[in-house]
Amino acid sequence: KLKQIAIYGKGGIGKSTTTSNISAALSVAGYKVMQFGCDPKSDSTNTLRGGEYIPTVLDSLRDNHAVKAQDVIFQGFNGIYCVEAGGPAPGVGCAGRGIITSVSLMKQQRVFEELDLDFVIYDVLGDVVCGGFAVPVREGIAEHVYTVTSADFMAIYAANNLFKGIHKYSQDGGALLGGVIANSINAPYAKEIVDDFVSRTDTRVVEYVPRSLTVTQSELQGKTTIEAAPDSEQARVYRSLAQNIAEHTVSKVPAPLETNELRQWAADWGKRLVQQDSGLAAPAAAG
Ligand code: ATP
Ligand code: MG
Repeated sequence: KLKQIAIYGKGGIGKSTTTSNISAALSVAGYKVMQFGCDPKSDSTNTLRGGEYIPTVLDSLRDNHAVKAQDVIFQGFNGIYCVEAGGPAPGVGCAGRGIITSVSLMKQQRVFEELDLDFVIYDVLGDVVCGGFAVPVREGIAEHVYTVTSADFMAIYAANNLFKGIHKYSQDGGALLGGVIANSINAPYAKEIVDDFVSRTDTRVVEYVPRSLTVTQSELQGKTTIEAAPDSEQARVYRSLAQNIAEHTVSKVPAPLETNELRQWAADWGKRLVQQDSGLAAPAAAG
């Protein structure tokens, strides 16, 4: 049975990298996968295609109004189906238009059924506050939402906004939260911060993904880590993440923090980290 998953997160946090590795790992595990880039930059599926960009749905429709779904679906690593929704020219029109248009194209032409897919994974820039970016959550397209965050406050702020969106749409059959993917977690305090945030918001961490040179090396080759370095520790982490997502069944409504609560939470962490830092520095100063 088809499972549809949406992965959200702040700009630049690692959504496309993580999503592509999840797609690659699921595909290698034998599932039929489509990765659906919902970012106007349309670079989501890059590392599944050897670094090559594919034409977007919106661009193709601009050239030809009778576009067939087959014309905008391209195969990448291990036969993964790649789609890029695309966006309007910068500064012109709603950035979410591409998602709305592409999803309805796939639905009209019954693409998911015909390809007999196990997974469609949407890679979505944003925190579901408006327009097309809310579509995968709102319209009941995806069933499970994941968010990628680091321990940085702005990333957590974006995750909390996403939780607010999910919370709001949950009464009307919107998608629920599968969990949080903690990315670039290397320092011990980074793990503690994310752990604390998920416990405050009644969510959970699906996987801790370290920041790793292997990812950089793979990306520079135009590949996912699953493809470029399958025997690496980082590939093992991505496989474990993919397996967790494949086995996950029941998502939940998160409990977002109010903006002032989140601010206070951050300030408390700020104090703790400053204290820890001076605690470490003190003996050296005394000596
Ligand atoms: P955007 O919002 O622009 O679409 P994004 O959230 O999709 O960004 P990516 O493009 O996946 O982010 O990642 C941004 C950069 O960070 C990339 O160069 C990527 O290789 C790097 N990166 C992401 N995760 C890791 C990691 N765990 N280790 C090392 N580098 C990483
Ligand atoms: Mg991206």
